[in-house]
Amino acid sequence: CGIVGYIGKRDVAPLLLEGLQRLEYRGYDSAGVAITGKTGELRTVKAKGRVRELESRIPKRFSGTTGIAHTRWATHGAPSDVNAHPHLDGEGKVAVVHNGIIDNASELRTRLSAEGIVFASETDTEVLVHLIARSAAETLEKKVSEALRSVEGTYGIAVLHQDFPGRIVVARNGSPVVLGIGEKEMFVASDVAALVAHTRQVVTLGDGEMATLKADDFRTYTTEGSQTTATPTTVEWEA
Ligand code: GLU
Repeated sequence: CGIVGYIGKRDVAPLLLEGLQRLEYRGYDSAGVAITGKTGELRTVKAKGRVRELESRIPKRFSGTTGIAHTRWATHGAPSDVNAHPHLDGEGKVAVVHNGIIDNASELRTRLSAEGIVFASETDTEVLVHLIARSAAETLEKKVSEALRSVEGTYGIAVLHQDFPGRIVVARNGSPVVLGIGEKEMFVASDVAALVAHTRQVVTLGDGEMATLKADDFRTYTTEGSQTTATPTTVEWEA
């Protein structure tokens, strides 16, 4: 339903929660965040219910400067803590938030389960996490595009990988993804409403497009890996 992500210098959890609150008007049944902690490890908190409930579960020390967050509107699997996004692979290295529906999820789930992969949730989204985690491709960008080649359906996704720090990889097919370009900080969201408090410079991804966000840089490319041009435009917004 809603995606928010941030990479920069500021403490990320409050920024993500604020972004999620700005997306609450769209409706949702659960929410969650994943951040890269100070020592580089992924940390996740998820909760069925309101963003306020999620906020109350976030530990006192939960600092980091990179993170992704989600409000879920369940399509596959009941609203629950476990089915809330972000979803992680078995090693807890890859975190994914996803808007949309993976149409061939049950087929992929059967195939991955046969390989010995154990699923934690009932969501369609979780197949994406395992596809990315098991990819032998060298870069996170290539792991994500390889995973996306196996899936059919709609997605807006944001991905963090513990072994590829300092970046967020995002992709879009039929579900909106907007980049917010700041000063030595970058935002991503499914809706400009979550960005405009921080920046008015935005790049809207097209279908079949991906992006890599770093604190001081971003680039966009197709799922096949060829570079695309992305000129930020200024959004008009009445605060
Ligand atoms: N299909 C996914 C799920 O059920 C994502 C739903 C959404 O867009 O929030 O978890």
